[in-house]
Parts: sequence; C-alpha cells; structure tokens
Amino acid sequence: MSVRRSLPNPVRAQSERLMRIADRHHNIVKGPVVIALVIWYLVPMDIRKIRLEIKQRHQGRMNFMTSTDLIALEPFEICTIRPPTENASLTFRLTRNCYWNKCRFCPVYKMGAVFSRRSLDEVLRDIERAKALDDLMREQGIGSPKYTQSDYSKLPGLADEILQVAKKAGHDVQTRRAAAELSADVDPRLAWFFSWFNDQPSLQDSLAHVLTWRLAGGETCFLGDADGLILKPEFLATVVNEIKSRFPSIKRFTVYGRTRTAARQRSLADLRAMAAAGLNRVHFGVESGSDRVLAFMNKGESSAEHVEGCLKIKEAGLSCSVYIMPGLGGTELSEEHATETARVINAAAPDFVRLRTLEIFPQTPLEKALKDGEFEECPEEQIIRELRIMISGIHVKTELLSDSASNLLDLYGKLPEDRGRFLKIIDDYLALSDRNKRIFSFNARLQSFLGQYGGLPEDLYETLSPYLREEGIDMRSCPDDILENIIRAIRSRLMP
Ligand code: SF4
Repeated sequence: MSVRRSLPNPVRAQSERLMRIADRHHNIVKGPVVIALVIWYLVPMDIRKIRLEIKQRHQGRMNFMTSTDLIALEPFEICTIRPPTENASLTFRLTRNCYWNKCRFCPVYKMGAVFSRRSLDEVLRDIERAKALDDLMREQGIGSPKYTQSDYSKLPGLADEILQVAKKAGHDVQTRRAAAELSADVDPRLAWFFSWFNDQPSLQDSLAHVLTWRLAGGETCFLGDADGLILKPEFLATVVNEIKSRFPSIKRFTVYGRTRTAARQRSLADLRAMAAAGLNRVHFGVESGSDRVLAFMNKGESSAEHVEGCLKIKEAGLSCSVYIMPGLGGTELSEEHATETARVINAAAPDFVRLRTLEIFPQTPLEKALKDGEFEECPEEQIIRELRIMISGIHVKTELLSDSASNLLDLYGKLPEDRGRFLKIIDDYLALSDRNKRIFSFNARLQSFLGQYGGLPEDLYETLSPYLREEGIDMRSCPDDILENIIRAIRSRLMP
C-alpha cells in the first residue's frame, strides 16, 4: 500500500539541513541511488513550499470568468491507498475499503472503515466531477502552455472561488471530514497513520489530484480500493470506457486484487473481458509463499491460490505485480518464509516483485500476537538474510523493486541479470559491524523519512538535537539502545 499527503508541520530549514547531512553521511551501499531519490523527493517539497506561499497570497478572491457552471463543481472520491507507481495517477473508487479486512499485519482498514460497493451511477458521477475540474483548470489557463508545479499555487484561490459561488447560491458546501473518529486514547502512531486517510476530499484536494495526474503526463489511472477483481467485468468495462472517453490520454489502468478472487471467483473469460476493456495490471498482496505464514497471518489465501491467481492473470493478458513482505514469518518461520516465497515466485513468474518489509502497527491483531508471545519479530539483519535466500532462490525472469520506505536496502533491477549486484549490496550490509549496521539503518530510515515527509515533526527533531553539530549529525555518542529507539521511532512513522 502507499499513500501520499503533505506534511502538516515541516521544520523545513532544519530538515533540509538534515537531508543534506544524511545524504553526506550515507554510506557504501546506497550511493548514487540515494542521490537520485533525494532529487525525486525534492519535488514534493517544492510543491509544499509553493502551497504555503500561495495560501498567504490568496487571501483575496481570484477574479475569473468561466463557462463552467461553478455551482455544479464538486469533489470526487480518490483512492488514498494505492501502489507507489500510482501515486500520480488519476484514481476512482469503485468500491470502498476491504471486504476481507482480516489480515493480522494490516492496519489499513482496521479503524472502522466499512466495505461497500459503489453504484455505477456514483462512479460515473465522480468521473464527471473529475472531468469538470480538469476542464475548469484549463479554462483558467492552468497547464497552458504546459502544466508546471507552479500551477498548484492557483488551486487554493480557485477552490475558494467555487465555494464562495456555491455558498452564495445557498448550496451545501462539502468540506473534508475525518475518515474515522479516533478515540482520544488511540496510540499516537496509529493516529499518525490515520491522519493520512482522505476519505472525503475537499474541492482543493480533488483539483490537486487532477493536477498531479496532469503533471505526471496524464496517462495512468488506478481503480480502487482493495480488490478490483470482485467487480463484474461489465461494470469494470463500463467504467473504463467512460474514463477513456472523458480522459483519452490515459493508457494504463490498474487495480489491487486478491489472488483468491482471481483463482476462485473469476473465470479466465472474465479476466480476459477485463483485459479487453482496458485493464492492464493487477497488484496482488502475496506477502508470503509459506502456507503456515499465510494461515498465521489470516491472509485468507493459500500459496496454491497465489500461484493460480497470478498465472490466470497473466494468461488473460494482464501484467502481474506482487508484493512480498520480508519479516512476515517472524523469527520462527523466517527461513521457511524466504524459501517458500521464492518457490511461489518461481511458479507464478510475476512480472514484478515488490518488497514491503513487515512493520508491526499498533492495535493490529499482529501487535497483540507480539504482546502475547505468539510472534517474535525478526531483527533487521535476519530480514536481510531472508532477502538473500529469496533472491538466490528466484530463477524466473522478473523485476525486483524496493519501492517502499519500509525497506532497508535499495534493490532495484531485473532477475536473474542483476542477482550478483543484489547479493553484493546485501553482503556489503551483512559485513558491517553491529554498530555500523545501526548507523546504516539510522541514515537510511532518516533519509526515507525526510523524503516521505519533507521534514521532521517537532518531537523527532527534539530527539535528534543532542546529536546535531554544525557539520552534521554525529551519532557516535549515542548509545546503542537509544540509537535503536530512535530508529524505531523513525520507522514507526514511515508509510510502507
Ligand atoms: S486483503 Fe489487503 S487490504 Fe485487506 S486486510 Fe488483507 S492486506 Fe489489508
């Protein structure tokens, strides 16, 4: 899963300094990949800066004339949870949340989000809403002669103007509400996680969503939420056709899916019909190839279903992307998890294998299992050894991506071609002393945090301040146990 949002409280100057420091101190294994990531990460930071500046500038009204009926403009529902490759996609919700919602490790929909199917009318209305907002932006000269990041600066005034017009006309103006009411005693880490959800976006959110998609080229669309394969092929075809007719630049449609749905609920003809309608790729949360791990985690799917589902998707002409979760077997099933996952990858031969290292979230059933002594978390080194087993054991052609902040190492490339390079990265890490492994982890996690949020919240900044020096961060005086706690604190707020 993946979510995007603006950081509410960046300590910007300090954070930029930390980012430079973390980059300078970053060590042997990352290198050029980190530099590329930093450049990439700077983009959303700029967007945030522009948004802040313009918020002040746009206290007054924007003065514009448009042929679009402003009163009719409304926000539309977007998919907060989506794969990282779909971060800049146009998204539409065809269902809401996850009907299964029982995986022990998964925090995503555990706080009261209820599954529902949306009617065709509702979805088509959202497509119309997105189209109207896209048209309005163009009428306002946004994207002319081309879309740029500075276009974000025009959105607050634009949204404000629409709301004023609607209010004057006596219309009920929709503003954002929290996705779920969290009780006052909720774990702060969980509250942080849930603050990402945007169940009912505002007009400005919807405008920004369309603009982000336009800025990225306007070619991709994600249809959510958790399992698009439960939809009837005719339903999906109608939606995809409508989106194509309204947004002809879109070339790729993707969904999340469950392998069990592909294996048991959908015929090959169904899946072929979905592919013929324009669906291109399915992202499966495979997590593990071990049936014991899947059963313990209450995944509701077997390794046989994983293989059958992936093969069926590929046979239908769809691209198959799977997520696997290093660490999911805990200490007890670590090796089995690694070898069995490699076995399933070899049998299923997905086009993409994406790594999502296990992070145990508060108030999940897995956290309870941890507290009850039913599950023992793998240390980072053991998780990296799992990766070594998996990568050594995969013999089919596939692409490996470490596109999640939960991962310690940057492993991007193709198998089998890049196996040697992957193993070198892994072995370089494993050869570090225990102390240097911790420093490596600290640097990597801090880098990811700064990249994800563009800054540090006050409490993390305070925690790090004893180690800040003019020339950078010096963690040499930081005892191991404190360093571990700092790493844990940073990791706990990274979005997977
Ligand atoms: S199927 Fe996916 S979204 Fe649903 S509970 Fe499991 S991991 Fe979470």
